[in-house]
Amino acid sequence: MEKSLGADVVNKHKKVSLLIPFYNEREVLPQLFDRLVALMDAHDAYDWEVMLVNDGSTDDGLLSVRMMRERDSRFRFIDLSRNFGKEIAMLAGMDYVMGDCVVIMDADLQHPPEVIPQMLEAWEQGYDDVYAKRRVRGKEPWIRRKLSMLYYHILQSSSKVPVLRNIGDFRLLDRICVNALCQMRETQRYTKGMYSWIGFRKKDIEFDQGSRVAGTTKWNFFKLLGLAIEGITSHTTMPLRISSVVGLIVSLGAFIYALYVFIKALVCGDPVQGFPTIIIVMLFLGGVQLLSLGVIGEYLGRIFNETKNRPPYFVREVDGKKPGEK
Ligand code: UDP
Ligand code: MG
Repeated sequence: MEKSLGADVVNKHKKVSLLIPFYNEREVLPQLFDRLVALMDAHDAYDWEVMLVNDGSTDDGLLSVRMMRERDSRFRFIDLSRNFGKEIAMLAGMDYVMGDCVVIMDADLQHPPEVIPQMLEAWEQGYDDVYAKRRVRGKEPWIRRKLSMLYYHILQSSSKVPVLRNIGDFRLLDRICVNALCQMRETQRYTKGMYSWIGFRKKDIEFDQGSRVAGTTKWNFFKLLGLAIEGITSHTTMPLRISSVVGLIVSLGAFIYALYVFIKALVCGDPVQGFPTIIIVMLFLGGVQLLSLGVIGEYLGRIFNETKNRPPYFVREVDGKKPGEK
């Protein structure tokens, strides 16, 4: 009798949270819910929770989330006070989920829920961070793919902490990783770099990323460029070093050239010549200076934002209640 009681405690359902930030995804939500319910019902050995984070959507997506929650209490939601961006929305979700592990995924079904059982298997084997690797990147313009390859090459070679390409935010994190990420309260988050920075035992799983089921992508070129700069400046201080080195090389060159001009003037006299050289050198130096200032400014801006020490986000509602309300 006592023995079976012990076994009961051991078999206590583990809680799995699905964390899904969404922003103007009204068209996909119904499909997403269907797929999630199917997944959860098929694997009822776990105690599921779906945490939907409304990142300030301007459509009425939240309405269908509310209705879903009324029907199925496994669905929970957080309503942020405005659009904070996906990275912050994920942090908000991590603050509120209760699972022993958390699976982060996109709302647009580019991350097929059917991969989750595989992730859970790896988690049960003792891995803390199981990330899904894209086998194909779905439909994507050629230029975007090339740029992304170049970008990761630069990022990779500028820092000791690896950041992997073809890995998005589709991953399972053990409670221990979630707690670690929640402690990192910086407001300008580059989560991809953070996952590798925290360490823990990692494992990859391959999956085929489909194209977005409905709605449109929220990333345009400028947003992506912003994220790319964000990634570099929050992950490495290499650009600062590069600008120092370039500055050093250029001033060394200038010094040697000055010697040459000086000696030449002594030996051959000084007819008025060399206007093009002066212009070229001036423009070049001016360019290098502006670039270095820009790099410094980029980091200074980050310091400015972080020293304000504001809370990263504000919440309007959690599961239909005001935050803190019983
Ligand atoms: N997203 C968000 N806040 C934003 C932009 C996007 O929460 O400001 C969500 C979006 O709803 C989706 C996920 O982040 O669930 C990925 O966005 P998207 O599909 O537009 O990016 P892509 O797959 O094109 O990289
Ligand atoms: Mg997408």
